[in-house]
Amino acid sequence: MINIKKCALVMVCFACFLQACVAPENNSVKSAKPLNSQALYQADRLNGHKMMPIGDEHWLGNSENFGVFLLDKQGEKLLEQSGNFEALDVRPLNNTAVESSHKWLVSSIEKELGQLQVFSLSHTPLLTSQDRGKETTEQPWSIETLMDIRLTKTVINNVCLYQSPTTQDIYAFLLTAQNQVEQRLIYLAENAKPVNYLIRQFPAPPESSACAVDDVKGLLYISEEMTGIWQYSVDAEKELSRQAVALVEPFGQLSGEIKDIFILQDGSLLVALPDISQVQHYQLEQKGKQAFWQQTAYQLEGRKNESISALQVAGEAVKLVYYDDENPGYYTAPTDIVLQPTKSALSELKSVKSNAETAPVKRYGDAADDPAIWVNAQKPEHSLILATDKSYGLYVYNLAGEEVQSIASGRINNIDVSYQVEINGQIFDFAAASNRTNNSISLYKINADGKVSDLAEISTSLPDVYGLCNYYSSLNKQHYVFINDESGLYQQYQINFSNGQVESQLVREFKVNSQPEGCVADSASQTLYLGEEDYGIWSISAEPDGGDALQPFYRVDNKVLFDDVEGLSIYHGAEKYLIASSQGNDSYVVFSLEDKKVVTRFKITADPQKGVDGASETDGLAVTSANLGGQYTQGLLVVQDGRNVMPVQPQNFKLVAWQNIQQLISSN
Ligand code: CA
Ligand code: CA
Ligand code: CA
Ligand code: CA
Ligand code: CA
Repeated sequence: MINIKKCALVMVCFACFLQACVAPENNSVKSAKPLNSQALYQADRLNGHKMMPIGDEHWLGNSENFGVFLLDKQGEKLLEQSGNFEALDVRPLNNTAVESSHKWLVSSIEKELGQLQVFSLSHTPLLTSQDRGKETTEQPWSIETLMDIRLTKTVINNVCLYQSPTTQDIYAFLLTAQNQVEQRLIYLAENAKPVNYLIRQFPAPPESSACAVDDVKGLLYISEEMTGIWQYSVDAEKELSRQAVALVEPFGQLSGEIKDIFILQDGSLLVALPDISQVQHYQLEQKGKQAFWQQTAYQLEGRKNESISALQVAGEAVKLVYYDDENPGYYTAPTDIVLQPTKSALSELKSVKSNAETAPVKRYGDAADDPAIWVNAQKPEHSLILATDKSYGLYVYNLAGEEVQSIASGRINNIDVSYQVEINGQIFDFAAASNRTNNSISLYKINADGKVSDLAEISTSLPDVYGLCNYYSSLNKQHYVFINDESGLYQQYQINFSNGQVESQLVREFKVNSQPEGCVADSASQTLYLGEEDYGIWSISAEPDGGDALQPFYRVDNKVLFDDVEGLSIYHGAEKYLIASSQGNDSYVVFSLEDKKVVTRFKITADPQKGVDGASETDGLAVTSANLGGQYTQGLLVVQDGRNVMPVQPQNFKLVAWQNIQQLISSN
């Protein structure tokens, strides 16, 4: 249940920027369940910290005096990497060609140096001595240092890893002595190599003691020693905010110092509370529409459990693993925790990397909106991106993303490009944009060299113009502009250039029930596709005598297409594809126009090597199949990016080579 009074208190006390406060139900406080611990590993001068299971039968631990070491299930030491280590996290590396060989990426903090050390741990089972015909001294296990990360201005106190379920790339969250969190990309799965790219920094809670990441849900948990546990998104594209998960008494059920946290495979949390010799388990439960964290406490009599991890074997109850400071050693304890079944919602969602980004628009806030691609017929590599800034006007970018021109047209929202019109013998291309300042259509002339200039202003009778797209009828050789109003009304204007000037005529109206925006017209099939933001995609004849009957194309289902439906554009290749911005889950859906089937859907993610972030909260998009040279021989997709980060700047547009999307389609 949401406890407003306590939320208010917490907000005052800790001045947190808390989104919502989910407190465990007070009436559910139960006494702690006693647990029996068994020694796993004890040694003189151990000064251990954390131990993690490796597979189902091995343990990787660390120690101030013995470094990082590997044990088998009898507690026999198999490997040791000397040093003074604290904090430990592990992720699998699935890059090996040899199926019987396994690798893990291991991160730990070398305390003396205050630096992160990244290792790879490998296991290659030996052939039996019979097969080899001789005794061997070869070790099936090996550990090697991949990389050290040292921060120049501060030391690293703790580390936790995050492995992206889509790319398998591994990120490290570093908690620094300066109360900062640094998110770094440390392993690129594609190239199977360690890297070190700073993704972002943000303030950490002042007494941060530990962290852990739920890879499936993309959530980072940070414990604040005397306060509680906070949840953040691992996605650098998301707004920075945190939510309280569990708080220290009297606001919650945690007591004493929070020393460590661990995330189980089902997303539930284990918390180490040595002052009261407890491990608490927090599981998110749903009661009607309310979600709350259900707490279960486990008592470890006479123990000072300084850390917490768990062995999770399929079909078996969870077994705790912790370091006890009072009776120095690593211990295990069986629990009655049964993991909840989990489903990975994003498993079908693939990803492509941004190839480039445009210069940011001039002002912060939601400003950039819709791009269009002008293909330069003579010099395709000099093609341009015309894009709207709904607080300023028009920007023109080259394919390197550099701003080459801008026009202060007012609050233009959507834009589209058409080719080959003629006035008084002069042939040129034109762009049309919905202008919210005047509820008009702003027309721009595009010369053969790419120079853009004002051409005409066409007034409409709509009170709140919004989306727009162009149409050329191959039947009657006429140009049209579709413009919609926030109310759902569409108007189709014929644009006539034949009398030595620009003339317009309203030729049709039709409507949808709620706010539409993105649209695209296909000359070859004389079809208009339009997005009703909350509802889905419709098609209708694009011809002026096409009537008002809408055909459903794809409905918002919040499984594939998430509202709002935003930008729409068509790729005219060997096959024709409709690409839609599925804004609600920061992704893009590609439909075949032959059979309306979804051929792929993907996110646009960062390319830290190029210093380009991914795209999220996308409004408009545009695609071309034209060969633009360079990376764009199969064409180009341009999308608006609602959050331009790495570093944080006003919004901009991301460029993606079509060949990367084609690969996703072809691999299906
Ligand atoms: Ca927006
Ligand atoms: Ca919109
Ligand atoms: Ca928009
Ligand atoms: Ca972005
Ligand atoms: Ca950026």
